[in-house]
Amino acid sequence: MPLSAEEQFRYSRHICLPQIGEAGQRRLREARVLLVGIGGLGSPAALYLAAAGVGTLGLAEFDIVALHNLQRQVLFREADVGAPKIAAALAHLHALDSRVHLIVHEKGLTPENATALFSQYDVVLDGTDNFPARYLANDAAFFACKPLVHGSIFQFAGQVSVFDRASGNACYRCLFPEMPDPESIPTCEQAGVFGALCGVVGSFMAMEAVKLATGVGVPLRGRLLMLDLLAATSRTVRLLKDAACPLCGSSPRIMGIDAGNYSFHNSCCAPCCLAATSGEEAANVFPLEISSEEARVWLARAVDVPLVLDVREGAERAAGHLPGSLHIPLNELAGRIHELPAHAIVIVYCQHGQRSLRAARMLRARGYAYTTSLSGGLARWAN
Ligand SMILES: [Zn+2]
Repeated sequence: MPLSAEEQFRYSRHICLPQIGEAGQRRLREARVLLVGIGGLGSPAALYLAAAGVGTLGLAEFDIVALHNLQRQVLFREADVGAPKIAAALAHLHALDSRVHLIVHEKGLTPENATALFSQYDVVLDGTDNFPARYLANDAAFFACKPLVHGSIFQFAGQVSVFDRASGNACYRCLFPEMPDPESIPTCEQAGVFGALCGVVGSFMAMEAVKLATGVGVPLRGRLLMLDLLAATSRTVRLLKDAACPLCGSSPRIMGIDAGNYSFHNSCCAPCCLAATSGEEAANVFPLEISSEEARVWLARAVDVPLVLDVREGAERAAGHLPGSLHIPLNELAGRIHELPAHAIVIVYCQHGQRSLRAARMLRARGYAYTTSLSGGLARWAN
């Protein structure tokens, strides 16, 4: 069906984008997108997707609007406090675009409904805020073979990725094979989250959904976008598929959705994922040591260029160093760790690769999961 004159006018700013055009707008109208959770991330995503002309939006949410939600969950108003989020969302999204077909799933995401629910949609957005739901969404998307737009937030930091079985890229369990112990993770109430961060990450998620639905651009499959809003920095790291992944690896252990694997009691603030598990888990995807040859390739790339850190003494550095490297001697590193941007990809080097290995281990233990040591140090590099 061609677009009506009214649709052409309404979406004219999309249609005049050569990448979207009328064909792209029609694809959006045909698209079926499911939002799992309509809180901090789902709110902005839902607003942008409805405004964009996505034809069918599914809303899976069971929660009630609380006053403290209004600090970031921009879909809701004071008058909604105490009402089911899904009812408030229906009213506001319908007011935004009366033709968007809204489907409610008021039980939210459960192990019992997950795979069948995902099967009804083209794209799923995971805007949940706890680990059981996040692992469930990842696994259900895998079994339903649907692309999953992943977003997570922690204080001022956010992450976005797309897990898509059909493309053969990494899934969430490739990064974090097992769910962490909820006791070990701070809750949202304890850790806090900045309101506008939700808008940034939720909007990124909406954009990824639009890209997947229309086929324009390069979705974040096999890549993780990491944002640090306090430092105003962003970085995209490659996600490697893990052959030993319990879900998508060559000898999978998880063969279906078993409710016992997704304990929903004591759910916690999801976003802490990297911060809480990075040191140990990132080792699965990120090497502790890197050869000179690998480092050269890496440094020559246009994206994901690592920060290079020299941990030698001042006199050694004066005798020669890698251009553009940051200098923090090993014995000062603990006290100056704040000089490294959060989520930085770091290549540490010293003269022979021993001190840098110690430094890399220390940085990983402090949350710099993407840290590697230049094997053999500057001596081998120079050779
Ligand atoms: Zn996997």
